[in-house]
Amino acid sequence: MRNAILLAVIAATGFSSAAIAEGKKIGVSWASFQEERWKIDEAAMVAAIEAAGDTYISADAQSSSAKQLTDIEALITQGADVLIINAWDKDAIGPAIESAANEGIPMIGYDRLIEDARTFYLTFDNKGVGSIIAETVVGVQGGGNYAIIKGDPGDPNAAFLLEGMMEVIGDDVASGKINIVGEAFSDGWKPENAQKNMEQILTANDNNVDAVLSQNDGMAGGVVAALAAQGLVIPVGGQDGDHAAINRVARGTQTVSVWKDARQLGKAAGEIAAALASGVEMSAIEGSSIFDGGEKGIEMNAILLKPTPITRETLGVAIDAGHISKEAACEGA
Ligand code: BGC
Repeated sequence: MRNAILLAVIAATGFSSAAIAEGKKIGVSWASFQEERWKIDEAAMVAAIEAAGDTYISADAQSSSAKQLTDIEALITQGADVLIINAWDKDAIGPAIESAANEGIPMIGYDRLIEDARTFYLTFDNKGVGSIIAETVVGVQGGGNYAIIKGDPGDPNAAFLLEGMMEVIGDDVASGKINIVGEAFSDGWKPENAQKNMEQILTANDNNVDAVLSQNDGMAGGVVAALAAQGLVIPVGGQDGDHAAINRVARGTQTVSVWKDARQLGKAAGEIAAALASGVEMSAIEGSSIFDGGEKGIEMNAILLKPTPITRETLGVAIDAGHISKEAACEGA
């Protein structure tokens, strides 16, 4: 729209075409594209950035905190007016935040908290995701021996998810109704690390495990593979709405996938970036409030979107929303 108006102005006044380059550059630093969701986030973000008349430039750190630092330097050198950062490691990202702040570049911490008040925090309610995973699995299983398969320790979301899970099961753990028989981080959120963790927990407990709280769907895939190798089908929870996970939900090998519509988050990021690029203050971003739930308790301007549980009974929600086709969801079920 802005471009169309600009073009009209240019046509009317005879200004040079250089004026078209008025749009701002939004630099996006991705941690990795390991999970299916991130390409969905990206497509929605690009669409929103372009709809605002701005330009999308990006880099993929490929799960390397060192590469992410050079990526962000490169985005700054390319003239990024705003940075959207999906941090690979909460601590290692520090120097990049300093550089961008020194250049006066507004920043959005995307999906993963960068606990620095100079960044705007845009995410889903990650604690809520953990709570929904636990509630749904406990609703099916009740008490018993539980395993918790956590994500990467450098990602604050792993801690938030655990917090949300413990809010639900804490009392049952204290009373002995639920036994946590294994709890392990999975480096890089890698499904193969989750699978190894699950194998070890099964071995250590003579396969006496009744339910698994996995912090995402990719890892739930590794968990389900480890369980299947022992001939076990037990309640397993995950998140992301991965197509394979929704299909496992349909087939009954996964109990719940908490779906965070990445299209909403990507779109919101593009819109917030456009607002910041045009000089809007972080505190004036529509719909924002103060978040202080990080490990340092720093007050941040933030928006937390609401996640949606997908169970066998509610598969239609993801289908109706156009996230997955009925055929893909129900294949083989
Ligand atoms: C995201 C999850 C994702 C995980 C691995 C987390 O920070 O919130 O949606 O599955 O990273 O990429």
